[in-house]
Amino acid sequence: MGVELLGLNIDNYTFEEAITTAKELIDGHKVSQVVTINPEMFQTAEKDQNFANIIKEAEMVIPDGVGVKIALKLIGKDVARIPGIDFAKRLLKEAASSGIPVAIVGSKEEVITKAVTNLQKEISGLNIVYYHNGYFNNDEEIYNELKVKSPKLILVALGSPKQEQFIYNAKKLLNPALMIGVGGSLDVWSGYIKRAPKIFQILGLEWLYRTISQPSRFKRIFPTLPLFLIKVLSSNNKI
Ligand code: UDP
Repeated sequence: MGVELLGLNIDNYTFEEAITTAKELIDGHKVSQVVTINPEMFQTAEKDQNFANIIKEAEMVIPDGVGVKIALKLIGKDVARIPGIDFAKRLLKEAASSGIPVAIVGSKEEVITKAVTNLQKEISGLNIVYYHNGYFNNDEEIYNELKVKSPKLILVALGSPKQEQFIYNAKKLLNPALMIGVGGSLDVWSGYIKRAPKIFQILGLEWLYRTISQPSRFKRIFPTLPLFLIKVLSSNNKI
């Protein structure tokens, strides 16, 4: 079940279907990867075949940003947007109520420490068996520690494409688990970055709010959406 966009498959789930599928994967017999795809990642995939293959092999690809939803709409396809941050938070709650061990890797030390404290306060019974900041040089060390702790749900916040590559490499190394690239979610959960006001969220304009409130992102992200939409229209999805 999915739709194709610029040569990549995107799953077409409702939020609840995505949660159900993710829970099945958590109970599965292998490491599964969730990619929360956005227009920037399409740009990366176009330049980097290895990254494109990672997305093609991912067990779930969910449309995170409004950009992907608009692009699909332009070519006549309707999908529900599933914000990665909401998806990941809900799975943390599901994990807590089923006693599933969780690990979180990524972001600066003070960010992840605060995010873990806040999450544990908010979600009763949440069992975070391992966490580590995202500024390490030796991936193997982190994989080894994850292997020892054997969490079943692993959130990875290293930014893209680093987090997708980290998860992909983990597929051959770790015990069965569901791994999700969660981008800047820990920054929000830690309280260091404010999420867009509800009205921006409802209108699907979180990207606009974030771009304006973090000027360093402006130059990088702002041109991405129109360029992406032009590409989608001109390719007519025949790549
Ligand atoms: N990050 C990290 N290690 C890195 C690069 C980034 O842990 O080597 C973290 C960063 O601290 C932030 C998250 O990844 O919490 C998302 O980073 P960024 O905003 O650059 O990525 P984007 O959300 O734009 O994909």
